[in-house]
Amino acid sequence: MTISYLTDMDGVLIREGEMIPGADRFLRGLRDNDIEFMVLTNNSIHTPRDLSARLRTTGLDIEPERIWTSATATAYFLSSQVKEGTAYVVGESGLTTGLHEAGWVLTDVDPEYVVLGETRTYSFEAITTAIRLISRGAKFICTNPDVTGPAPEGILPATGSVAALITAATDQHPYFIGKPNPIMMRSALNTIGAHSENTVMIGDRMDTDVKAGLEAGLKTVLVRTGISNDAVISKYPYRPTRIVESIADVADSVLDPFGEHEGVTGATAPGGADAPEASGHGADPGVPEN
Ligand SMILES: [Mg+2]
Repeated sequence: MTISYLTDMDGVLIREGEMIPGADRFLRGLRDNDIEFMVLTNNSIHTPRDLSARLRTTGLDIEPERIWTSATATAYFLSSQVKEGTAYVVGESGLTTGLHEAGWVLTDVDPEYVVLGETRTYSFEAITTAIRLISRGAKFICTNPDVTGPAPEGILPATGSVAALITAATDQHPYFIGKPNPIMMRSALNTIGAHSENTVMIGDRMDTDVKAGLEAGLKTVLVRTGISNDAVISKYPYRPTRIVESIADVADSVLDPFGEHEGVTGATAPGGADAPEASGHGADPGVPEN
């Protein structure tokens, strides 16, 4: 049996710049068992190298090759569509580096695509250029649909909000690459040579991680360390394969996270006393308790 993992980063491995307890043990488990994995994030600001360095300060050692951002996925997607095309980019180094590495030329002169990513310094001038280029026929791509992002002082407007502004001005909707588009998962799977039927997606959100995992044909694990609580979870018309408190609950059973295979080395079968999962089942709306 070969198992592989895709795991969300924020809310699963780290939170507010700190490692979530057990994340290091989980990663060690993957390495000790030669398990292929990729860490996913919809954040397109930073390059995988930057993120790898930031993760190291939290105590997590993840090489850049194992970090898949919505910018990386966008560059992968675009170069699969057009070899070495042209794009006008509104975004940060995560996106521009990704496209450059894919052989794309970044230009504001008659580009085939306008690619919008996350930035903290949206300029009126850059957005105006994007709007004019899209109005003249450039195809509109956006790294991720998130409309807000977290900050210590409150929410920040994110890529999806700026995309909405451009849509209002051009009447053109972007094609979003990041989660919940399963293309984010499929491109990551291709890159590590993994197959969806043997891969587990771990995430902290129902509307992005679990949805994208499900639609890409993966088994899914929802961790409660993010923003999903039971009332929220039970409202969705789909459910994760398993619900756990945190990544620590998966760390000791990486070879057999669903307790399907008896006697698998390094696996700890969750058994019948898996309270989080049981409560997840019981939370189905409209089903009376017996
Ligand atoms: Mg998350």
